[in-house]
Amino acid sequence: MNAGPMNAETAGTAWVPGTVPAADENSAPFWDATRERRFTVQSCTDCGAVQHPPKALCTSCGSMEHLTQVDASGAGVVDTFTVVHRAPRPELSVPYTVARVRLDEGPVVLTRLEPAEPGERGWQIGDAVTLDWVDLKDGRSLPYHRSAATH
Ligand SMILES: [Zn+2]
Repeated sequence: MNAGPMNAETAGTAWVPGTVPAADENSAPFWDATRERRFTVQSCTDCGAVQHPPKALCTSCGSMEHLTQVDASGAGVVDTFTVVHRAPRPELSVPYTVARVRLDEGPVVLTRLEPAEPGERGWQIGDAVTLDWVDLKDGRSLPYHRSAATH
């Protein structure tokens, strides 16, 4: 059989973050889902609000008993972004682009955009983005965003 190494999933992923916070009581269900590369947001079954990152209570109605993680596309639109040229820590390679993305599901998330500086046009506020993943050594995966136009 001609079964060579075919690892297209990880090919082309140029970066892996040095440190990612450990899961806590609130974020554990979110991080567990990332092990299957499922992006989830927190939904309140009492009032219907959707929030991210996960919190102990619904920021809309205050309920603590009706929060659940639900699957989300993770797709959205760039709300604002900054290109970092000076690394705050030596293990980070520059440039990289940190963005606020407004998800189709509603919440605004902090994320990284890849590639950091695409072409001459660069990133623009309002660009449509889709979610992708980079695998962490501990089995979790970290979501980031890339252009919906070139994906
Ligand atoms: Zn609520």
